[in-house]
Amino acid sequence: MTYRYDDQNIFAKILRGEIPNQTVLETEHSLAFDDIAPQAPVHTLVIPKGAYVSFDHFAAEASDAEIVDFNRTIAEVCRIKGVMPQEGRAGFRMISNAGADGVQEVPHLHVHVLGGRDMGRMVE
Ligand code: 5GP
Repeated sequence: MTYRYDDQNIFAKILRGEIPNQTVLETEHSLAFDDIAPQAPVHTLVIPKGAYVSFDHFAAEASDAEIVDFNRTIAEVCRIKGVMPQEGRAGFRMISNAGADGVQEVPHLHVHVLGGRDMGRMVE
């Protein structure tokens, strides 16, 4: 499988500093920032810094270091945002849309971290 990465996508521009973002966490290989149109009280996007279109591209071609960093960044974002599952309350949902049927709008891998409310409800 050959992946074609569009370096004019909006998250590539955010990574290059051409568009501002509300950074939650930056690591060697990953960036986490708040979604511009939040669907929940916590709605943060986590992206790798590398040029990966979607999760399948990342899984196929990213280094082990990038994959570990990405996963740990997601978990750290959950801790920072206070949505780590606890006795009683909290918890989160992670979603990564891929391709046309997945209704992926931005062609740079991103995981949505959603929480701060009962995610079983469809609307805010
Ligand atoms: P997708 O449908 O590709 O999984 O989700 C793309 C997400 O990116 C959407 O939730 C949308 O609100 C968010 N988004 C689009 N443009 C921007 C932007 O310029 N800044 C930020 N922070 N989020 C954006």
